[in-house]
Amino acid sequence: GGNSGIEFLKSKGQHILKNPQVVQSIVDKAGVKSTDVVLEIGPGTGNLTLKLLERAKKVIAVEVDPRMVLELQRRVQGTQFASHLQIIQGDVMKQDLPFFDICVANIPYQISSPLTFKLLAHRPAFRAAVIMFQHEFAMRLVARPGDSLFCRLAVNTQLLACVSHLLKVGRNNFRPPPKVDSSVVRIEPRHPPPPVNFREWDGLVRVCFGRKNKTLGAIFRQSSTLALLEANYKLHQALAIDKTPGSAGVAQPSDGSSFADTMMEEAGSLGDGDEDEDAEMAVADQQRTKKNQYSEGFKELVMGILQQMGFEDRRSAKMTLDDFLLLLAKFNESGVHFS
Ligand code: SAM
Repeated sequence: GGNSGIEFLKSKGQHILKNPQVVQSIVDKAGVKSTDVVLEIGPGTGNLTLKLLERAKKVIAVEVDPRMVLELQRRVQGTQFASHLQIIQGDVMKQDLPFFDICVANIPYQISSPLTFKLLAHRPAFRAAVIMFQHEFAMRLVARPGDSLFCRLAVNTQLLACVSHLLKVGRNNFRPPPKVDSSVVRIEPRHPPPPVNFREWDGLVRVCFGRKNKTLGAIFRQSSTLALLEANYKLHQALAIDKTPGSAGVAQPSDGSSFADTMMEEAGSLGDGDEDEDAEMAVADQQRTKKNQYSEGFKELVMGILQQMGFEDRRSAKMTLDDFLLLLAKFNESGVHFS
């Protein structure tokens, strides 16, 4: 059946990886060990799955399309690998993921961002994920400070994982060929994840990347930013959340939910927002925080922190993760909050 499959694939907009060398190269670069449980997402007709089964102890494949599930079952039936393959039929975004050592996937590109953060929120942390993304998405994911594509998606992902580009895969390696090129990326979760309150982190990063080429001084001098932060400041003081010095910015959010829970709640929105979208959100915030009022004293507090740390003239586009972590810690320590 390979060819009979192609017709219904077209209607689904799915592109099957046909070049066996590329498939082999993905499996080789993934570094699958004979003791590994591999999670494969979107196995389709199983080109990658069969190669993974040759290497791994077990492959758990999550596939939403029942026709693909049948095709895959048909392909492994009666082979030595049949007992090493478990198929979960369903939408990967709606599944509680099983334990796995390594994830290998050629996914539908619409779920790139939420799936990445779903994986990063998964516990226990896996060793690595080797995933095919749309080339442009992959380039944003691995962008470093100073690269033109450095963005919120990059900092949020790199906070939680080491990411590296493995190989570019041209559109002609797929049937039918899609309109875009692809790239395979390796994602290795940092464990333990950095001790940071993820809501605070995401709040700071949204503010800073709202205008990533402006200086932090200019961003934090905006009345919309100051009004929002002062409202948070007052709320935190009223709730006395930070009574204990040093409690700010620590891994467990004050509502007791785990780091992973927080990640999952936000998974849909962590990377997708490009800077335009963030700018729109800033406008929405602006409308919400009535007339953008703030006190001069609060402005002095905020600007004082930026100056003291030498961040006033820095731009997010060129800041490192450590810069953001340092800035967040200092702000939180002074009672300035982003959530
Ligand atoms: N891995 C195959 C290959 O490399 O040839 C097929 C890749 S194809 C781009 C994506 C596969 O993911 C399809 O088989 C599709 O049915 C499946 N899929 C799409 N959305 C999914 C979802 N939300 N959960 C699980 N599988 C999904």
